[in-house]
Amino acid sequence: MRYARWAYRTTVGTVTVAQNPALRSLVCLRCGTHHPVADLPSGCPACLANGTPANVACAYDTDGTSGGVRLPYTVPFTLGEGRTPLLRADLDLDVDLRLKWEGANPTGSHKDRFSALVVARALHAGYRAVAAASSGNAGVSLAAYCGRAGLGCEIAVTDGIPDRVATLMRDLGAHVVTFPDPAARWRHLAAHTRSPTVLPVTNFRLPPVGSSAFGIEGYKSLATEILTDLAGERPDWVVVPASRGDLAWGMYLGFREVCGAGAVPRLCLVEPYPRVSAVLEGADPHGDFPGTTAVMPSLGGNSVALQAVAAVRRSGGRAQVVDDDTVTAETHRLWRTGLPVEPSSAAALVAVADARVSGAIEPGSLVVALATAHGMKGM
Ligand SMILES: [Zn+2]
Repeated sequence: MRYARWAYRTTVGTVTVAQNPALRSLVCLRCGTHHPVADLPSGCPACLANGTPANVACAYDTDGTSGGVRLPYTVPFTLGEGRTPLLRADLDLDVDLRLKWEGANPTGSHKDRFSALVVARALHAGYRAVAAASSGNAGVSLAAYCGRAGLGCEIAVTDGIPDRVATLMRDLGAHVVTFPDPAARWRHLAAHTRSPTVLPVTNFRLPPVGSSAFGIEGYKSLATEILTDLAGERPDWVVVPASRGDLAWGMYLGFREVCGAGAVPRLCLVEPYPRVSAVLEGADPHGDFPGTTAVMPSLGGNSVALQAVAAVRRSGGRAQVVDDDTVTAETHRLWRTGLPVEPSSAAALVAVADARVSGAIEPGSLVVALATAHGMKGM
């Protein structure tokens, strides 16, 4: 099958971006409406008009299980993301526990999978720059990938960002703009939707919809990597730290494509205070979910995106709340065992332990926990 190709001059020479000819539309996860392929940073226009924002996902010509996952673009400027190790972890929990070590990605987090795809989208659609709201891993990752591709990169941060993280973004070529609070930076990001040259790729809506559908496709490859490393055995549970659920939703899409909709491993979302878990117990998903975390800022936020709830419900999964003190202790323990994770990653292992104690994860289960990011950035 031929791919349509566009060639671009970048910092590493001329590269060619090809859109998958099987990519046909973007489909709303709530109402099922198919939209033409375009950037929909506010999600499904019909659901937005109804006051119930919902993200969209790439839809391809045919469903099926070809053994791999389909992606919207080939990624010619890859920094080597993906193919991260699946390590054994022994927590004496009477489960077969594996750790997907995403800190091994080029900038030290799973966000590199997202960045590779949104940069491909930006090049293909003719944007000159990418913009995002991030105070951590996503901003660092996008800065690196945009630099590689010769695109501008603007990262909107809040005042509380650690100096060394902002410095790292700047050193990687990003333009860092600072705002007093998350609402102000979301308003700034939203203004880019009127620009033909700047592509906003992270959420700026409340209620949230999640990040770029093209970037989220990048998380699908986690499913094939995990199944390959398990020699085709399907995990009983996949435990995923979550804020607005980009990673969990992308992994759901990947497993659905490879395993079929009825055989997706159960997803357990990990959160620092009840959000998805409250919705699963009947709370209004558009409500406010107060809570704070001092050690897991990448899992913060007081709202719920529909995609996070959908990933849990459609996989028959659940959500697990973990607390700062236990996560801090587990982070220190993991560092001493050769795994310098950030606390938001250690949260996944705490969730496995808590879910075993409560019986939510059964003895003998095959469990994969996502260690999403390296801790050496100091986030
Ligand atoms: Zn819709």
